[in-house]
Amino acid sequence: MTDLVHTPQPTPAHSVRTGMDVDALKQSVQDHLRYSIGRPAAALKPEHYYRALALAVRDRMQDNRVASTQTSMDLGRKVTCYLSAEFLMGPQLGSNLLNLGIEAAAREALGILGQDIDEVLACEEEPGLGNGGLGRLAACYLDSLATLERPAIGYGIRYEFGIFDQEIHDGWQVEKTDNWLVNGNPWEIAKPDVNYRVNWGGHTEHYTDDAGRHRVRWLPDRVIKGVAYDTPVQGHAVNTCNVLTLWSARAVESFALEAFNTGDYYRAVEEEVTSETVTKILYPNDEPDIGKRLRLLQQFFFVSCSLQHIVHIVEDLSDRSVHDLPQQFAVQLNDTHPSIGVAELMRILVDERHLDWDEAWAITVATFGYTNHTLLPEALETWPLALFGESLPRHLEIIYEINHRFLDEVRLRFPGDGDRVRRMSLIDEDGGKRVRMAHLATVGSHAVNGVAALHSDLLKASVLKDFYELWPERFTNVTNGVTPRRFLALANPGLRRLLDDTIGAGWMSDLSRLTEVERHVDDPEFQQRWRDIKRANKSRLADYIRSTSGVDLDPSWLFDIQVKRIHEYKRQHLNVLHIVALYHRLKQNPGLDIAPRAFIFGGKAAPGYFIAKRIVKLINAVGETVNNDPDVNDHIKVAFVPNFNVQNAHLIYPAADLSEQISTAGKEASGTGNMKFMINGALTIGTLDGANVEIREEAGPENFFLFGLTVEEVERVKAQGYRPADHIEADEELRAVLSLISSGHFSHGDTDVFRPLVDSLTYSDPFLVLADYAAYAQCQQRVSDAWHDTDAWTRMSILNSARSGKFSSDRAIAQYCDDIWNVAPVTVRV
Ligand SMILES: *Cc1c(COP(=O)(O)O)cnc(C)c1O
Repeated sequence: MTDLVHTPQPTPAHSVRTGMDVDALKQSVQDHLRYSIGRPAAALKPEHYYRALALAVRDRMQDNRVASTQTSMDLGRKVTCYLSAEFLMGPQLGSNLLNLGIEAAAREALGILGQDIDEVLACEEEPGLGNGGLGRLAACYLDSLATLERPAIGYGIRYEFGIFDQEIHDGWQVEKTDNWLVNGNPWEIAKPDVNYRVNWGGHTEHYTDDAGRHRVRWLPDRVIKGVAYDTPVQGHAVNTCNVLTLWSARAVESFALEAFNTGDYYRAVEEEVTSETVTKILYPNDEPDIGKRLRLLQQFFFVSCSLQHIVHIVEDLSDRSVHDLPQQFAVQLNDTHPSIGVAELMRILVDERHLDWDEAWAITVATFGYTNHTLLPEALETWPLALFGESLPRHLEIIYEINHRFLDEVRLRFPGDGDRVRRMSLIDEDGGKRVRMAHLATVGSHAVNGVAALHSDLLKASVLKDFYELWPERFTNVTNGVTPRRFLALANPGLRRLLDDTIGAGWMSDLSRLTEVERHVDDPEFQQRWRDIKRANKSRLADYIRSTSGVDLDPSWLFDIQVKRIHEYKRQHLNVLHIVALYHRLKQNPGLDIAPRAFIFGGKAAPGYFIAKRIVKLINAVGETVNNDPDVNDHIKVAFVPNFNVQNAHLIYPAADLSEQISTAGKEASGTGNMKFMINGALTIGTLDGANVEIREEAGPENFFLFGLTVEEVERVKAQGYRPADHIEADEELRAVLSLISSGHFSHGDTDVFRPLVDSLTYSDPFLVLADYAAYAQCQQRVSDAWHDTDAWTRMSILNSARSGKFSSDRAIAQYCDDIWNVAPVTVRV
């Protein structure tokens, strides 16, 4: 029964609205149902309760939010600004309840109102404002910044349509628009009065000012307005509540006014439409050649708004000036997407604030830090010079000036080394000229870091080698991490309870405390609880898979999971080749005793990535054949979880026995999925790539299934003229596997559908799938053997989790704060 009549409470004003006890929460939900949602009691559904509870929770964060800003401003403390084109935040309600410490109170309050909180939580539509790992990393870092009480602002883009929703039709990926804002977003607060103008296109004018100094002004042919939308980011068990500011594009002039003036109503509306296009849609990555003007505009748009906002805070809201920018703000570039910020800050300081170049440059370099996320040459951003110059004419001039001064420095340090100068230039002069954004980010930052130890070493040895030789002191490593609040406490409530019972609740803010679990590794009772939890998580995932893809999985089987974006370098097809090999063995020898396994996949392919989309089809095709064949389906099954996202990730990572991290060595910068699996007690089968190296170090090599070529071996094989066909010739089973796939065995006789995939493997195999195949298949045999010894497996599972403390994003953020940002904690009192 819902009672919508407001009863005045004899409590202070602010606790009526924001008290943390059951009564206050219940009252707050009722108030929001009445005053914010406004539906009659009889029409209320769980989604209305979701919105009412979300608003009630947001009110409670808002008190902390106000106090957090006030405290760091009063104390004049330095703030981290995390610039990222993507924030893959995931559902907010559960995380905010956890961080505020009001999960139980909310459950009880909703219970009194006749609602089941789990049903209400399931109503949330997650903001899919990211592609995968990079965007999720940004979200984990915001959680850790707030939890570590570091003042921070996340800056990004409020895409109207996030990453597409994936459906599987007849085994193929079908993309559906992600209309995440249709039912409103209770977490954001629109700030129409926080808005900035962003120029685009046009030309520059050089002139001499009254004091006789050379000046430049930019005369754009377009102006777009950016409006701020703020989402609070609550720290765990602290009062700190930071903010994620996302910019949304608007037309500058009111089109109604313009229409009256010109009489051309429709032209004016079109202007509005094109301006708003800027933040309409998130570009899928891995798309070959998204070198599109709109993408550059998106990047410049959000960076320009963010830097104007930062400068406004320094100049107008503190008693400082832009000269103090590096003392007030550390601005981190999450990959090269925001790297135009280097030129934009120079433009603001030199053209608008009239600082001289050298001082402006010193401020810029001291302000920025740059995180590199990839060594893949095709993923390193460059812009065609012509497109860049037409779009950002003033920034191109500034980049030329930066380059001119920078290359002089290079020539001074390395006289006569013209080749080095050509390699390091911000402009690639080979072929069609292009602006190299990674070089701009590196030259414009005081610190450059990779995201895992191996990746940072490779950076210094390959793509940024010349820069490392010039400025070794700028280079550091910060290995990625993930938030234990979301990826352990929320995703795995069973394990959370066991940890709380066994080592106390401290692990949630200090994941290194998990090592205390090691003391119980040989305790049979603890082992049994551990297994029961894993089993329950597997049942939960099996239910979800049954309802989403119709595949029935037995939770007593080994759950072998590969979830991540579909990409050739991540080698989902290597996994499939092994499945087909098992299928082939079982068909040859139906009595074969192999450990029963469920192979589970999930991940989106970029809509324009031809081979990746065929890999999705292959997984589903093999699944259809395997799952329906009684000769094999009591030993192996294959399931594809559609639409892998943060929400279903909560169900997936905790259900894994085996984590597939099988990228070609040297290609995966870090990976973070690998860490989420480890924390939840999965064993890894993996190559020496990205953070796998450190995962194996921490877990101990005896608790990790290692296979495959090392980075050095990959390079040697490639240098010697790799011939994938040699591997096919040498391996009869591999031959059989490939011919099953190309014969149409999994595609109802269609021999065309997988030909591009098999041909690519046979004739070029750029990611050495076939070179690693035999080692992978052998390693999978070791996995099967190990699975037979349940106690030994449980022990390894416990040890993986117990030794995963390093992979908390709290550790990573503490390192960024100490080594790169110089941002200290600020205790917030409310
Ligand atoms: C963690 C995560 C990723 C990154 O996975 P990798 O295995 O590191 O590539 C991608 N998408 C989602 C939804 C995630 O939660």
